[in-house]
Amino acid sequence: MRSDEPRRGADHNVMREVNRSLVLALVKEGGPVSRASIARSTTLAKPTVSAIVDELIADGLVREIGPGSTAVSGGRPPILLEFNARSQLVVGVHIGARRTTIAIGDAAGEEVARREFPTPRPAGPEAVLRLVADEVRAAIDGAGLPGAKIAAVGAVLPGLTDFHAGVCLLAPNLGWRDVPVRDVLAAELGAPVYVHNAGQAAAVAENLEGAGERAGDLALLYAGTGLSAGVLSDGRVFHGVGGTAGEIGHNAVPGIEEPCNCGNVGCLETVASGPAIVRAAQRALADGEPSALAELDGFDARDVAAAAQAGDRVAGRVIADVGEHLGLAASWLINAYNPALVVVGGGLAAIGDLLLDPLRAAAARHSLAPALRGVEIRASVLGPDAEVRGAVLLALQHSETYYRVVFRA
Ligand SMILES: [Zn+2]
Repeated sequence: MRSDEPRRGADHNVMREVNRSLVLALVKEGGPVSRASIARSTTLAKPTVSAIVDELIADGLVREIGPGSTAVSGGRPPILLEFNARSQLVVGVHIGARRTTIAIGDAAGEEVARREFPTPRPAGPEAVLRLVADEVRAAIDGAGLPGAKIAAVGAVLPGLTDFHAGVCLLAPNLGWRDVPVRDVLAAELGAPVYVHNAGQAAAVAENLEGAGERAGDLALLYAGTGLSAGVLSDGRVFHGVGGTAGEIGHNAVPGIEEPCNCGNVGCLETVASGPAIVRAAQRALADGEPSALAELDGFDARDVAAAAQAGDRVAGRVIADVGEHLGLAASWLINAYNPALVVVGGGLAAIGDLLLDPLRAAAARHSLAPALRGVEIRASVLGPDAEVRGAVLLALQHSETYYRVVFRA
């Protein structure tokens, strides 16, 4: 059966969608190509290919770039087609607790503009989102692309998000609760908006452009002010039915008795996060343990990490303890999802081996041997860029109808 055999109703529409994304993917990834070679690779009939190509040209996604140098049959050289990356834009927005970053990507995800500014607080969510929309428009104008079509917006937030509803459920560091980010930004920017949390965005970015090396099945442990995970299956974020999958920082661990931001007691996050580092160091000082930290006028997790790097034993032990707890979280990801690799992202990843060595050891201790086999645990390579790059890449992913397509050689 030929794949372009006419179908009726919904089936027919699905086939048209599939064929269109097949042709677009071929031009995008294999271009420049001719209509004839598209027909050969896809086994679609030539008139079907021509009709789809005409439509893609009319939409501005594909353009003709003139004849190729040789014709297979010795006849007229075929007209070659290429993907028009400037045909539309994707927008990535990362609203961080301290700073907000906006990145504008072309239709291939290549960045054409970026803006960064302090997240205005305590302005309230409406004012922040309006400012984000203004800055997006300004960035597009600044790049010399006024009026360009926005295909999709990826919005990334530091907290609990519901992807399906497009809502930021809870972001304690922003003071946000139940904010309809998708609806507000979509109304402002006139484009579909996809809302994710920072761990999910970092996972996508590390997979495509960072430590993940396109592993596809990747788990990212996002350790910063809080602790969560972004889990990818075949490169796509696993959301769960309510959109909250991956919140492993709120798994309770017997023996831990700290109260958590979420209202529960004993969540792993309370002993495996930036604030956990500060609390543990403060406790050690209160117990009279000797540490260079005692001479500082207040300190944050970064100061504790710096003291540990400089050889401070108390700081070193605090970092190692948090590393062990993160290793326990890594073992949960390894046992539950059997990923090709685990990437450690978020602010704590920058601490390096002082954190990662105990993390790896604990992960190995707690993981099932068959699940652990071949799994590497690596630090983020994108660092603080991961969230906004993830926002751009998620916008790109969602702007394309996704089919897993395997071309014939
Ligand atoms: Zn909790």
